[in-house]
Amino acid sequence: MLDRLDQQPPDALLALIKLHDADSRADKIDLGVGVYRTDDGATPVFASIKAAERKLVAEQDSKAYLGPEGDMGFVHALVPFIFGADSPLTSRIEGMQTPGGTGAVRLALALARRAGVTRVFMGTPSWPNHAQIVADLGMELVGFRHAAPDGTADLDALKTALANARDGDAVLLHGCCHNPTGIDFSEAQWDEIASLLAASPVLPIIDLAYQGLGKGMDEDAYGTRTVLAAVPQALIAYSCDKNFGLYRDRVGALYVMAPDAGDLNRILSNGHALARAAWSMPPDHGAAAVRLVLEDAELTANWLAELQDMRSRIGQVRAALAEAGLAGSVDLTPYGRQFGMFAMLPLDKLQIDTLRSDHGIYMAATGRINVAGLTMDNLPKFIGAIAAVSD
Ligand code: PMP
Repeated sequence: MLDRLDQQPPDALLALIKLHDADSRADKIDLGVGVYRTDDGATPVFASIKAAERKLVAEQDSKAYLGPEGDMGFVHALVPFIFGADSPLTSRIEGMQTPGGTGAVRLALALARRAGVTRVFMGTPSWPNHAQIVADLGMELVGFRHAAPDGTADLDALKTALANARDGDAVLLHGCCHNPTGIDFSEAQWDEIASLLAASPVLPIIDLAYQGLGKGMDEDAYGTRTVLAAVPQALIAYSCDKNFGLYRDRVGALYVMAPDAGDLNRILSNGHALARAAWSMPPDHGAAAVRLVLEDAELTANWLAELQDMRSRIGQVRAALAEAGLAGSVDLTPYGRQFGMFAMLPLDKLQIDTLRSDHGIYMAATGRINVAGLTMDNLPKFIGAIAAVSD
């Protein structure tokens, strides 16, 4: 029976990592995989997380099972950071821990499907796993253009797409730091999106995977909070894997905002049932470390400072790109107006292949780069190489 399975293509980014590892050039540049890097090219464990982990090892007295909802102390500790301190909405919000933001997106879409959602509207391009998850759940994906030619988020495309939305539709929105374009909706656009969704039958699903890596913790939650304040119900998929640097520890959460606080138990019980059937319960360690950070004022302050450092460095790289202006025929100035770790370069396959073969610069075949893979040291080489292949 298993011989009926077709060979699947390898994950393109993971294949790129292998190619990069095999390259012996000392000045090679990895702009492929989406992890933050310091100016030295490292992806260190946050000091605040290390401190929390030490505490965890010293104090944790059992590893007995939790439930499918995971560590609810972790889930609740994040609430003021995501939804705002003292938000009146939080009485209508409850969550559960998930294996990373991917688990949260998966669960949000599976829950939506259980509730009768069959179509998912989404701006494209998007994080490739969005489309894979929608397809795997047997739902229909309706794409619309995310970015307009002028480099701003295309609100008109969203409006046109949602004009025909009906009961049974959901819209999947990136809360901030759009992956892969780096082009976010402005606050004025989010205000319009919120009004639009308030008058629409469509279920908002917000994927917030990079809070704190764009403009700031509160600023990056503007879209999420504004939409939630306007609509009766929504699902929020959250990841701590970037903003706590926990990637492989798989730390995320799904939050449900219900029309009425009394609906939450019933809705979450479906989330728990879906989790039980998929992964039973999420991995504990990373979420417990996040909880210990957030339960301790000093560790929280340290974490926020570490996050601020990441944000500043990404901003510095973006500013340096913008300052360079033109690299061959590529205008680098828009990258200074974008946010988060990712950006799209307007290069074709041949140019991307040449960057790899002739310059040792590795990026996704789509032209997406991890801005955090650039450093003050390798920026001149990068800009020169872009100029060389695009002239
Ligand atoms: N959503 C988006 C938009 C992402 O870019 C990512 C990570 N690349 C995720 C969700 C999931 O993150 P993780 O599963 O690593 O927490």
